[in-house]
Amino acid sequence: MLEKLQQYSTAFGNIVFPNGCFMCDRNLIKGEGVICTYCKISLPKTHFQIIEENAVIKHLWGKANIVAATAFLHFIKGSGVQEAIHQLKYKGKKQVGVVLGEWFGYDLIQSEPYASADFLVPVPLHSARFHSRGYNQSEMIANGMSKAMNIPVEKSLLQRGVETQTQTRKHRYERFENMKDVFLHNDDEKFHNKKYLIIDDVLTTGSTIAACAEVLNLLPGAKVMVATLAFANK
Ligand SMILES: [Zn+2]
Repeated sequence: MLEKLQQYSTAFGNIVFPNGCFMCDRNLIKGEGVICTYCKISLPKTHFQIIEENAVIKHLWGKANIVAATAFLHFIKGSGVQEAIHQLKYKGKKQVGVVLGEWFGYDLIQSEPYASADFLVPVPLHSARFHSRGYNQSEMIANGMSKAMNIPVEKSLLQRGVETQTQTRKHRYERFENMKDVFLHNDDEKFHNKKYLIIDDVLTTGSTIAACAEVLNLLPGAKVMVATLAFANK
């Protein structure tokens, strides 16, 4: 009887938490949400928010006028970070972006200049990709960060045009090709003389982020910063 009861409760537990941890797939216990406690305490944080000349800003040097840049986690191949981002981008698990974004936000709110941003600006998706995925993963991260930092998410500023070739196909003019693709959609006066924090999932080439930064810099008095959930060193 007791055995039966335990089986039932396990089965019930699996119904309540059907996915396991989004980083390591271990069974989650009540209160853990989508990432287990072990993964949470062993997140490979960069702590770049306290290092002015960190690897992320160096990566973006010469590509756009950006006053500060950071990333939450190191993107290590085969790691839980890669798995979580895969779940976020390709498996419809938008909650993982919100949760990691919130944890990132709690770190950033303690660090200037990020804490004094006026708006969080998620990198926009092409509409075709938005429709196939159903959400913008950068927006999910920004939503979590907004919760922790109490800074609004602003989606009306940037817009992407026609679908271009994927980021994996690189060529010499990539940056310029990408820039043709991002537009300033709103130059309302309430957006003048503000600090913007661009939000993205993984920093790889940085070309899309650079394009977004250059477009935001068209706003009078803009100061542009960047925060990505993960940073791939190679
Ligand atoms: Zn885990």
